[in-house]
Amino acid sequence: MRVAVMTAPGQVHVEDRPDPQIIEPTDAIIRLSATCICGSDLWPYRGVEKLEGPQPMGHEYADIVEEVGAAVTTVRPGQFVVGSFFASDNTCEICRAGYHSSCIHREGVSGAQGQYMRVPLADGTLLATPEVPSGDLIPGFLAASDVLGTGWFAAVAAQAGPGKTVAVVGDGAVGLCGVLAARQLGAERIIAMSRHEARQRLAREFGATDIVTERGEEGVTRIKDLTGGLGAHSVIEAVGTQESMMQAIGSTRPGGHVGYVGVTHDVQLPGMGLFFSHVHLHGGPAPVRRFLPELMRLIGERHIDPGKVFDLALPLDQAADGYRAMDERRAIKVLLHP
Ligand SMILES: [Zn+2]
Repeated sequence: MRVAVMTAPGQVHVEDRPDPQIIEPTDAIIRLSATCICGSDLWPYRGVEKLEGPQPMGHEYADIVEEVGAAVTTVRPGQFVVGSFFASDNTCEICRAGYHSSCIHREGVSGAQGQYMRVPLADGTLLATPEVPSGDLIPGFLAASDVLGTGWFAAVAAQAGPGKTVAVVGDGAVGLCGVLAARQLGAERIIAMSRHEARQRLAREFGATDIVTERGEEGVTRIKDLTGGLGAHSVIEAVGTQESMMQAIGSTRPGGHVGYVGVTHDVQLPGMGLFFSHVHLHGGPAPVRRFLPELMRLIGERHIDPGKVFDLALPLDQAADGYRAMDERRAIKVLLHP
């Protein structure tokens, strides 16, 4: 099969590798007709995160089950399924509390930027749609696999809801899905922080009521100006840098909540500033599996269309162009067709 492999920072190529096989009886093999590049793939691409040798890329997937192991009971070949970047058993105490991405049996998945992939713990990880959806819905389901699930978790962690003002730091696909989530959860006012016109437009389409172009200290000042000097009730942090984290904490009112889902890189929190901020911090790798039943229903019934985050589609063999487009911020999120 063909799969995108990162060999060094800035170096992605598509190569032939053996098709994945069932290894454990709890595995499933998925056949992929669409896959995508994640903002988090840019960390190793930019050399910020170290690569341990050539790495098959991709951890977002929504497609047809090709084969299942002998112990798999809840999904069967031919079904359309969605899973997430951590396989989970969905039965341990941590999963039952809703934190599937910290499942005691969790396993990372990779190689989704290819024609086939192996998903461990298929019963706990995958959720099937009632029927195979029409093709135009596939980008939406693919978004549910990571960016929508992650934006949704951020909005829930930030306690977005009726009567709340929500600020969103980060205008990548996750931040934009955070806007969509905040809207669905009933937030009254949603302030998207973005200086990029196409992203501002999509933010508004997803439900943003205000746009703030300033960032850092100036961004914090602007959010306070818009909220009677208090700050937002709920702030979504969807970047993962020192500046974005401090921007998120600074934009939150005392007693408010930050939902942080940008994979942190060298973030250090100042103890005293945090102490006097009175801000709740909650986040981490999103337990997407917790939200999949609801997200898949909303997408399948066409209540939401998170697939709009894909603004560039390429054949898998042109994955390198897709990485460049995302790295240079020419594309919000790139869809690849194997
Ligand atoms: Zn578990």
